[in-house]
Amino acid sequence: MPAGRGWLGESMITVKLLQPLKRVVLAAALIGCTVPQPIGAADTAPRDLGRTTVKQIFKDAVPGWMPPDQELHFWFKEELDAYVGVDSTSEWTDEEALEVFAALSRIRTDLPGLYKAIFEESRTGTTRHLSRPKSPPWTNRNVAAVFVIVSSAFQPPDKIAIASNYYSLRPDSDTANAYLNIPFVGLNPAVIRGDVPGLGPSPIYPALTKQAARAQYFKEGLADTLLHERLHAYITQFYGHERLFAALRAAVPQPPCEYDVEESLVKQLLLETYAQGKHAFSESFLKYWSDDQSSLAAKVRESPCYKQLQQEGLFNGTLLKVDSY
Ligand SMILES: [Zn+2]
Repeated sequence: MPAGRGWLGESMITVKLLQPLKRVVLAAALIGCTVPQPIGAADTAPRDLGRTTVKQIFKDAVPGWMPPDQELHFWFKEELDAYVGVDSTSEWTDEEALEVFAALSRIRTDLPGLYKAIFEESRTGTTRHLSRPKSPPWTNRNVAAVFVIVSSAFQPPDKIAIASNYYSLRPDSDTANAYLNIPFVGLNPAVIRGDVPGLGPSPIYPALTKQAARAQYFKEGLADTLLHERLHAYITQFYGHERLFAALRAAVPQPPCEYDVEESLVKQLLLETYAQGKHAFSESFLKYWSDDQSSLAAKVRESPCYKQLQQEGLFNGTLLKVDSY
């Protein structure tokens, strides 16, 4: 049984990981949630939901470390099945908030196979993209493709990163072992602004000012962040269905596998996919992350965790099987 409230993973830039939170399966009935319409409707402008709270939109949601009754400005884009909530202290304009939807649309156009697998097909809790499938003890479905929160409150103060993900598990809905959960991605506006030395867009674009690096991040890094964090959440969603994912999410008392291994696998899959995409990311962006991944992979290959997974034969196949990029 999945037990707990969610899983927080962090960005490409920091590599620490919180322990999976030991959770309690809630006995309460599922009430008052807003279920979006099926995907496939004609493209429309994002719907402005005004100032409200995560709790008002999805009762029982746990948006990372942010209180669920914190008021944010929310939008929902039906065509993408995606929510965006922006904290007023983030200093993001409405136009910048809508850039999140634009970034998702770009991924969907440029990398349709990967986008579909991660954001769309996962919604039902079944997947045909696993390399090492095993019998699932439960089904984790999603209420939406992604729920993005732009607020520094999403992360605990000791786990600051450009972004995090939190897969918020919720009570049973219609059957005993089918859960309807929320894949949250938190963007840290202070890190994106360049307020935290060594983190955020500036290390990727060292020749640019903080403001210019932030602007460039909106054009390409944001899409990568959304894919990256959502992929971590995908591993959480399907860890009951996949042997490698299960090893990466090993429960207490067995410690979770070293986070660097997962980080390296996520980066590797994305870089391989980007190499096939036509124009999703610039050469300088890809060079930065290729170099970063090369040094991380070299380190990871020496780790006991990697060697153990290798001995267990868990690196057969790719992290995620997609038909095409
Ligand atoms: Zn990561």
